[in-house]
Amino acid sequence: MTARCPAWLRLSADRSSYEVIPKRVEIVRNIFEETIAGVGMYSVANRLNKAGVPAFVGKNGWHQSYIAKTLANRAVIGEFQPHVKVDGDRVPSGEQIKGYFPPIVTEETFCRAQNAKSERKQSGSGRKGASFTNLFSRLAVCAYCHSTIVFENKGEGAKGGSYIVCDRAKRHRGCQATRWRYRDFEASFLAFVQEIDVEAMINQADEAQKRRALEGEVSAAEGELQSIEALMQQAFGVLETGAAVEFVSNKLRELETRQRDLKERLRTKQHELELLNNRISTFYESKNEVRSFVERLQSPAGEELFKLRAQIASRIKNLVETLIVAPLGDRPKTKKVIEHLKGEAAADDVIAHLTDRLNSKKDDRRYFAVGFRNGTVRAVYPSDADPLKYHQQVIAREGKIGLVSDEIDPEALEYSNLLMS
Ligand SMILES: [Zn+2]
Repeated sequence: MTARCPAWLRLSADRSSYEVIPKRVEIVRNIFEETIAGVGMYSVANRLNKAGVPAFVGKNGWHQSYIAKTLANRAVIGEFQPHVKVDGDRVPSGEQIKGYFPPIVTEETFCRAQNAKSERKQSGSGRKGASFTNLFSRLAVCAYCHSTIVFENKGEGAKGGSYIVCDRAKRHRGCQATRWRYRDFEASFLAFVQEIDVEAMINQADEAQKRRALEGEVSAAEGELQSIEALMQQAFGVLETGAAVEFVSNKLRELETRQRDLKERLRTKQHELELLNNRISTFYESKNEVRSFVERLQSPAGEELFKLRAQIASRIKNLVETLIVAPLGDRPKTKKVIEHLKGEAAADDVIAHLTDRLNSKKDDRRYFAVGFRNGTVRAVYPSDADPLKYHQQVIAREGKIGLVSDEIDPEALEYSNLLMS
């Protein structure tokens, strides 16, 4: 056994084995989790420093380089790399020895973190803003000119705030797309694109925390019950010696009351835990739940929130193949078709019909369409007044098109066919 061991382990008192230092293990596991969720090493280090977590080495806090070293350290999966000294430097020598240390993350987690790290390198997504301000970066494109949709922060003030906008339109290069307030867009996306299943992610964060707390309470109550039983046994023992009967029986009554209360509390907590484990998801059906989730996610970033936003961003990237944003609805497209048809023989009827559509403003409703890697397409037409309400949604799956609508529009299906083609 070598005393030289990873920072999250220590040699046991009898020097026969290694034992984990739970607090540090949790820190290391968090570093892996966050990396997998898409957080960069620089941000991980910064957040640890902000949270006042003491670094494992030195007095100058966490550095990106130490995070990198930890992520690459195979000791987390239990492997030991023997070293030798060459000219005063420690260099690796010989095969890695598996199962040498107690593993603290799974091999799968280790590999996923390596993967996430190298993906970030390739995509060049260096330092992310403090709170993953744009969940859709490098994903959204303009419905009219297919340019990238960019994030734009117009600062404070009445016309300030954050927007997404077609890059070409922003640079006045011939696209007429308008801006979409980022907050509204994000709210509509999160509330209606159920495929992202934000609930599963909230649950992972929230419920894991709740479950840990409940499990802690349950085991504390169980422990206390055991010690009360031991005390009662002792009291009975004293009783048998015939000494101070009154005192002992008072003591016993007191213990019985505590025992009753504890059993009651244990039952309640166990029941809560059961409910938590058997909860059936009704998240997207509950408008209030969705609303409070979106509000929470858009509140000024806290530590947990940062991680959650990073996880959502990473999940969106994993599931979504295309995201088309149409802030002016289909009006520009319809206009283009009319232009195209002008002068063509026998196109007058079609032109008249399309002009009617334009005049009725039916095509003006803004929307976005999400194409998933599995082939599903979901188009959402949010209400202008409230991003958490919609006028209609169109869902296409394997050639079948379904329509969810708050207002029945007989032309909507035909209209959505146009959109999908
Ligand atoms: Zn454009």
